[in-house]
Order: sequence, then C-alpha cells, then structure tokens
Amino acid sequence: MTLSEPELRAAITRELPGVRADLERLVRIPGIAFDGFDHSHVERSAHAVAELLGGCGLDTRVVRAGDGLPAVIGSRPAPPGAPTVLLYAHHDVQPVGDLALWESEPFEPVERDGRLYGRGAADDKAGVMAHVAALRAYGDDLPVGVVIFVEGEEEFGSASLEQLLAEHRDTLAADVIVIADSGNWDIGVPALTTSLRGIVNMFVEVRTANHAIHSGMFGGAVPDSLTVLAKLLATLHDDAGDVAVGGLTSAGPAPVDYPEDRLRAEAGLLDGVSFTGTGQLTERIWLKPAISVLGIDAPRTGEAPNALVPSAKAKLSVRLAPGDDPRPRTRR
Ligand SMILES: [Zn+2]
Repeated sequence: MTLSEPELRAAITRELPGVRADLERLVRIPGIAFDGFDHSHVERSAHAVAELLGGCGLDTRVVRAGDGLPAVIGSRPAPPGAPTVLLYAHHDVQPVGDLALWESEPFEPVERDGRLYGRGAADDKAGVMAHVAALRAYGDDLPVGVVIFVEGEEEFGSASLEQLLAEHRDTLAADVIVIADSGNWDIGVPALTTSLRGIVNMFVEVRTANHAIHSGMFGGAVPDSLTVLAKLLATLHDDAGDVAVGGLTSAGPAPVDYPEDRLRAEAGLLDGVSFTGTGQLTERIWLKPAISVLGIDAPRTGEAPNALVPSAKAKLSVRLAPGDDPRPRTRR
C-alpha cells in the first residue's frame, strides 16, 4: 500500500515543521572536512545524521575508509518485487571564508525573505533533510527499498569515496540513484537534474627567464612571463567567447532556456558586461564545455617591482559537457 497524492501532501505538511527544526539543528554543526579544521564536528554531524535516519526506521551505521571522514549509510529492504532507491547527500560543508562578508553568523540559521541562511542550509543539509522528509512522510508505507548514503567529505574532494563504495558495494546496490545535491529551477518549482558537467582542473606554468630582470633595461626585447601567459590564456576562446579548444564534446540543444535577466541577477553580472559564448544560455552553462581561469600566481600589484616577471602560473578549470570523458585521449 502506498499513499495517495492528497495523503502524501498532508503527510508532508504535517512533517515540515519538524524537518525544518532538524535542518536548523544540523546547520549549527560546523562540520568542515578541509585540512586544518576541527574534524570532531564532522564526527558529530555524522552521528546527528545517523540518529535522524535511525529515527526513520532505517538500519543505520557510521562508516569510514582509511583516514577518511565518516559517512552514514542507512537501509531498509524493499517490499517483495519493489525496486531499491539509493538516496545521496553529504553532511560536510565548505569553510566560511571571510566572516566580514556574512550578514549573519554562518552556523546560526536565520530566515530572511523566505529563505534559510547559514552554512550548509542549502548545500547540502537541505539535501539530507529532503530525504529524511520523504522517509518520514511515507513512514511505514514506503513502497520501495531505500539505501541512503550521506558522505562526510564531499566538499573536500571525496578522497575516500571510491574505497567506501567498494567496501559497501553490496549494501549500496540499487536500481536508481537520487542525488539531492544540485540546484533547483526556481522557488516553488521542483526540478530533476539528469546530468551535470564534469571537471578537469589543470595548472599551466610559463617561464621566460631564470631570474627577474629590470623592465627598463630589458623590456621590449625580453618577454615577461605574465604577458606570455595572458596571450596563451586568450587563445582558449574565440572572439565570441566560445571555447576554441578542439576535441571537446558538446551536447544539446537544451529543452528549456534561462531568462537572460534572471541569470544576470543571479550571477551578479555588472551593467555593461555581456554574456560570453553563443547559443542558448542553458546550452552554454549546462551542455557545452567551458574553460575558466581560476587563479594566477604572480607578484601582487602593490609589491611588484620594476622587473620582468620570470615565471607565472595559472589554474584552469575545464567543465566537460555531458558525454565527454575526462581521461586523456590519444590524438586521432
Ligand atoms: Zn554539495
């Protein structure tokens, strides 16, 4: 027996205040998996999640692999003939960065304009609680088997994920996976993300001399590494801003488009700044490759002497379109 739609709606309305209160409780735990942070909070957060899942009648345990931080696995077998659904979320959060840029305490959840603010309130403790809410709403009438996997070091690169998956392969076996860790289309409009772009990060270093030399004595004949690096980086895109690197896959077209003014507002794009690339906006941000420069190691402007910079390094991020493969390919 499963719930009818009105019954399910009523169950969600009934459960929502408790779900919201538990979300706030999770947000108050500063579980940051990055090196140099107090990992006892990640332990606490794993146990808090385990308690929530246990409360939904799942057989729950906190697991780890090697030096990795704790993940939580909960499971409940499928009724005869029914499929098993794996629910994924993560309970660790990003560091808070510059506190001066926060409008309220990072780990004290606050509601403003209908949204809950606090580190991890969306990414990804809301994901944890969306799963918990579904389990609570269905209660004993859950029509499928469920395995829930809540990772504890997603924001820090998931170093032990592969080992965890291998060690718990049998428990985690499922017919379908639902990942609650991506964007939503709009307030009040639910959405399913069926594909995300992949990522390859790389470093490019340019060296033009074995030491810094005087720009007045040598500039004009001897190249400085920053100008060379800037010229190299400028070749990654054509004049329209589309990626000019050969061999990358594009998917598309997209079945929906992003309203231009909404993307502008959400990105905080300044007046007079144009979008880059061509084609539908959704195609550009979801289905085509993108290359961005994430950082450059170079002298700081306030400290830069009158010298040609002998070496410069950039960090590049390549976003791969659905269907592409991050592994190196041999040229055909
Ligand atoms: Zn996330």
